[in-house]
Amino acid sequence: MDGAYGAFAACLPNASVEIKGLKHADSIATDPHKWLYSPLEAGCALVRNPQLLLETFSYHPTYYKFDEIDKEAPLNYYEYGPQNSRGFRALKVWMGLKQVGRQGYIEMISDDIHLAQRLYSIVDAHNNLEAITQYLSITTFRYIPTDLEGGSDKEESYLNKLNEELLTRLQSSGEAFLSNAVIDDKFCLRACIVNFRTSLSDIEALPAIVARIGREVDLAMRQEAELFKPSSPSS
Ligand SMILES: *Cc1c(COP(=O)(O)O)cnc(C)c1O
Repeated sequence: MDGAYGAFAACLPNASVEIKGLKHADSIATDPHKWLYSPLEAGCALVRNPQLLLETFSYHPTYYKFDEIDKEAPLNYYEYGPQNSRGFRALKVWMGLKQVGRQGYIEMISDDIHLAQRLYSIVDAHNNLEAITQYLSITTFRYIPTDLEGGSDKEESYLNKLNEELLTRLQSSGEAFLSNAVIDDKFCLRACIVNFRTSLSDIEALPAIVARIGREVDLAMRQEAELFKPSSPSS
């Protein structure tokens, strides 16, 4: 199962049945550099039956000779994955677990989810933003100019171009970093909160930043394309 981002939400007492269902998987890919807040990079595969890893990866070329020490067979990590020489990535993950513990992760992950939910309601109440989805710590939305509603092919195609350009400008502005998602053919802005330093004031500042850049991009694009001129009284 791919739990790269979401699997760690399974620690929450109120985790959804879908997420709790991960316990039935034979193997789960997870990324501690996402929701365990480890520094990049620390990928991790949890495998129920380690014997399968040995059967897949173990090999014994003549120049690999690691003898028993005090009659104990050495644990050769190269027999459990594609790498032999490897960095000690597990250390930073283990230190995070030691530092904040299970309860610390429950609190930080819950905080991120609450911030994303808060973002959804602020965006939903904004005249020029359309809230689209909210799940775990991901909220998607898009900018819609006051005189447009979306729906028609022409408007939807314009809104997609507008939001795509908005995202590029937002990212290079350095004010906030969002990524994108495409939902039902709509190009959306996607906020994914996986940093324990993200605060409520960051979340509250975001809609105004997005709306300001949205207005600028809308103006520039209409001037260029001569699109969606306000209709004249006679038409
Ligand atoms: C981040 C992510 C990946 C990519 O994983 P990396 O190890 O960061 O390259 C794959 N699948 C999902 C669902 C992800 O969230």
